Amino acid sequence: MDDALLKFVWKFFKNLGATLSMRNEILTASNIPEKFEKFFGKKSPYKFTVDESLATDEVEFLEKGSYTLKAISSYLEGSGETTLLKIDFKCDPESEVKKRIDLKNSTIVKLSQKKRNNIFFRYTFHTSFQYLNEREKLINEVYIHDNKRINGDLNDYPVSEGSKSEIDIPDMKESYFVAKEDLKVQLDNKTREVANKLNTALELEIRRVEAHFETEERELKYLLEKAKERFEETVREGDQVKISRQAKVIDSIKEKLNPEERLNDKERSILIEKTKHGLNVNNKLFNTTLIYHPIYTYDFYVKNEHMKTNFEVAYDPLTKSLQKIPCSICHEDVREIYFCSNGHLACRKCMVACKSCGKEHCKKCLKIHCELCDALICDSCKVRCIGCGKLMCKSHTTQDKLSRRHYCNTCLTKCERCASLKIGSDFRRSRKTGVKVCEDCYRKEIQEKIVRNLD
Ligand SMILES: [Zn+2]
Ligand SMILES: [Zn+2]
Ligand SMILES: [Zn+2]
Ligand SMILES: [Zn+2]
Ligand SMILES: [Zn+2]
Ligand SMILES: [Zn+2]
Repeated sequence: MDDALLKFVWKFFKNLGATLSMRNEILTASNIPEKFEKFFGKKSPYKFTVDESLATDEVEFLEKGSYTLKAISSYLEGSGETTLLKIDFKCDPESEVKKRIDLKNSTIVKLSQKKRNNIFFRYTFHTSFQYLNEREKLINEVYIHDNKRINGDLNDYPVSEGSKSEIDIPDMKESYFVAKEDLKVQLDNKTREVANKLNTALELEIRRVEAHFETEERELKYLLEKAKERFEETVREGDQVKISRQAKVIDSIKEKLNPEERLNDKERSILIEKTKHGLNVNNKLFNTTLIYHPIYTYDFYVKNEHMKTNFEVAYDPLTKSLQKIPCSICHEDVREIYFCSNGHLACRKCMVACKSCGKEHCKKCLKIHCELCDALICDSCKVRCIGCGKLMCKSHTTQDKLSRRHYCNTCLTKCERCASLKIGSDFRRSRKTGVKVCEDCYRKEIQEKIVRNLD
């Protein structure tokens, strides 16, 4: 049974978009495009088998050289068309997207969908290997996406006829070039395999030719010896007619043994074998299929108590996956999405809380280190000491009531009388104790004295 033939026919009709079924060793092809039916001269469905005992008027027996195979070959040679196919996914992209992301500190305000198409190509090549008396046919498919070869198979997808109005057909030159190169690689093994087979067969043939010539030479030499013996006998018998006949026999054998002639003959025979064992590979582009399917893209509008922003998420129903959502800090793909108070999208690792207010920020927004305790603090929590100029956490500073200015605790002096931290340069020496005290305590002391004097 020749399964390769059946496979070839199957692939051919599959490429035409036919409906195929295989039952009890019989392949049925229906829904054949009219163009092929006209070419073939018969309306579908067609039935084929590679088991001769199953062949009937209805079921054609497939064998090398059969009508169908010849028709397919000539059809392939005459085509080279572009087909548009669309993959229709039955899915609810919105819920698929929502299922795949996790908004950690924000809620969705609004979603808006945009649709664009992902396009790839399938190039179908028809290759024939011609050698000896064989003609092997192969159909190879190469799938190209973004000018790169991809592993593809449309069998598992719901495909329907596409429409030119739905897509902008891109330039295919580069992708065709890539496909052709890939085909060469795909055919390389086969070519090498056939070439090896041919080389082995050729070597055998050459050896056969050489052996043939050697045997022939041995036989001729033997005949020559015999003829010479016969010649001597005839000389002894003295019959002139017989002598001259025998001399002619010897001449003709000698002529056949001429080494130059023999070498020429042998080389000619070898050359004929070499030509016979040549390999002729013929590639033809049978069909270009542009396949497209939607990529669902959503603008997510989100908010939390600190911010409002939007970001894009794209869902590819072919791969059933989201396209990358990059963290704005480390650029890695994020599924657990955080937003800093400035609206930056970030991953868990790239989020930090301000030591002072506890608000979540991304690492880009939280860069200030307190010069005293080294903790990260946000912009609104940082305080610059008017005395030493250092930036620090609010908790290390005190605001002066009068001037409203901030001083760090080291830049302030502790008043021994009231124990509060005050600006050291404002201290006055107490008349009572001789120690420097804060302005407030000093004023109080003076007021008390006045009161006492009044009494
Ligand atoms: Zn990150
Ligand atoms: Zn803060
Ligand atoms: Zn940020
Ligand atoms: Zn200070
Ligand atoms: Zn601090
Ligand atoms: Zn005081």
